[in-house]
Amino acid sequence: MSYVNNIINLVKEKYPEQAEFHQAVKEVVESLEPILKKCNKYENSAILERLIIPDREIHFRVTWEDDNGKINVNRGYRIEFNSAIGPYKGGLRFHPSVNPSIIKFLGFEQIFKNSLTTLSMGGGKGGSDFDPKGKSNNEIMRFCQAFMNELFRHIGAHTDVPAGDIGVGGREIGYLFGQYRKLTNRFDGVLTGKALNWGGSLVRKEATGYGCVYFAQEMLRQRGESLDGKICSVSGSGNVAIYTIEKLQQLGAKPVTISDSKGMVYDKDGIDLELLKEIKEVKRVSLEEYVKNKSSAQYTSIKDYPKGKNPVWHIPCFAAFPSATQNELNADDAEALIKNGCICVSEGANMPSTIEAVHKFISAKICYGPGKAANAGGVAVSGLEMAQNASMTPWTFEYTDKRLHQIMEDIFNNASQTAKEFGEEGNLVIGANIAGFRKVADAMIDQGVI
Ligand code: NDP
Repeated sequence: MSYVNNIINLVKEKYPEQAEFHQAVKEVVESLEPILKKCNKYENSAILERLIIPDREIHFRVTWEDDNGKINVNRGYRIEFNSAIGPYKGGLRFHPSVNPSIIKFLGFEQIFKNSLTTLSMGGGKGGSDFDPKGKSNNEIMRFCQAFMNELFRHIGAHTDVPAGDIGVGGREIGYLFGQYRKLTNRFDGVLTGKALNWGGSLVRKEATGYGCVYFAQEMLRQRGESLDGKICSVSGSGNVAIYTIEKLQQLGAKPVTISDSKGMVYDKDGIDLELLKEIKEVKRVSLEEYVKNKSSAQYTSIKDYPKGKNPVWHIPCFAAFPSATQNELNADDAEALIKNGCICVSEGANMPSTIEAVHKFISAKICYGPGKAANAGGVAVSGLEMAQNASMTPWTFEYTDKRLHQIMEDIFNNASQTAKEFGEEGNLVIGANIAGFRKVADAMIDQGVI
């Protein structure tokens, strides 16, 4: 049996119930075949065996009191995956679906994504099965404080630097940071995504969405295409989706879809960004509210989705930006996109396309930017926030955005040239995985058997 198959089997055997983690490992290690065949030092140094087991998995209890005085108990996680090239870095997700498999798939992907950014950051991820929906501000604050009561022991500006993800935005980072400062009596750059007046970076909020569009621009430029005047489909309606839409509109494109966990909106006149921000950033309510205010829009509830299909991907578009969650785009959806003329998919979310959907994109030879490359702008600007904190100097919006744009171009060029080096021109899955892997694996070899 090949080295790669051995590793896939090993992960299934060691972690039988962790389907998302199996999927992420399979996607990465299969695409590493060309480099593993060419350089046997990685197998000889047992690099894959070491990469699939996190440095440490921290599981903890989070106990907090709601507004009615009821005591609630949630699970908390921080998975410190690999720090060969820098401190652990990766977001915190608060969502009821969070479990060890989800956090491990995200942490594993984060190792390669962070490596691709060209900055010095290792990979980690964390979160809780806490559901922020419907909770008061005070409940969110008490939960974040209780979460930090355990997490503070494990993090530090040079050890592990968490950030936001699904369910964790600026408000939550504020409460988490406040409790960290209270417990440790330190003001460190220990979290990123902070507010501007106490150490945050301009462009952090916009970074993942903007970066994902910059990445799409690079892919399209190679084919002499641009986004100007083009119809685009976007899923999700959170941080990544909102700033993807903002950048698309700045570039003259017309995004026509958004979605959330309850349904999707198709607005043939183009998404009204101000209305969307009001609904999701201020009121924090469902997208049903959007159609009440916009007569050109249609709403489809998730209950009415055709079986096995995500209707967002069945609206004809030129470019697609999956920006909600994992496995939200399957093989049928991929086929519909291709059939309807979509020539570019740039993933804002982590692992939004199933392995079968990715195969369809690759065989159709459309521009396909896998999440770990296309959405690396968020963690890249987090790295820039750490640099600003260390030097105690804030940068301007224009300068930070320029750095982000350059990093996205560099990631594209690195993935594209690496794919070419291994005889897989145009295959950014292989290019991004090998480029991300090589830097980490070589660092692990340099640092000895530990
Ligand atoms: P937000 O919490 O801001 O928004 C998430 C969006 O996805 C919401 O619209 C939410 O709907 C929807 N959603 C969440 N879970 C599901 C589900 N199971 N089914 C359907 N819709 C769902 O998160 P972000 O925008 O920050 O994150 C979106 C994706 O981008 C995630 O995959 C995340 O890991 C990835 N990512 C985020 C980065 C960042 O900087 N924030 C960086 C890199 C990747 P609802 O409003 O109903 O909850």
